[in-house]
Amino acid sequence: MVVRVRVEPRSLKEEHTMSDSPAGSCCSHNSHGAVAADGRKDLLAPSADELAECPVMVGSTVVKADAEAAGLFRDYEGARYYFCCAGCGPRFDADPAKYVAAA
Ligand SMILES: [Zn+2]
Repeated sequence: MVVRVRVEPRSLKEEHTMSDSPAGSCCSHNSHGAVAADGRKDLLAPSADELAECPVMVGSTVVKADAEAAGLFRDYEGARYYFCCAGCGPRFDADPAKYVAAA
């Protein structure tokens, strides 16, 4: 089973930029810069460094940040393993050596 992590952080905000009035008008000056300041990286595509493969369901790509946020990871013998779904954690726990060896 392949689980896709779908990230679509699209807000409705973007439709609100009708006012293209000349400089000097008051309101729309902070719609974009705020994102970076916020520390949000939703809009960036994950780089290879941010991805891991689920050791239980080999072939399933996991976004590390998402897995951590969801608690879908284990630290085992000094390495961290990320799971593609909630079903994989318990399976890993049952026999971690098996999955680690296969990785
Ligand atoms: Zn899984």
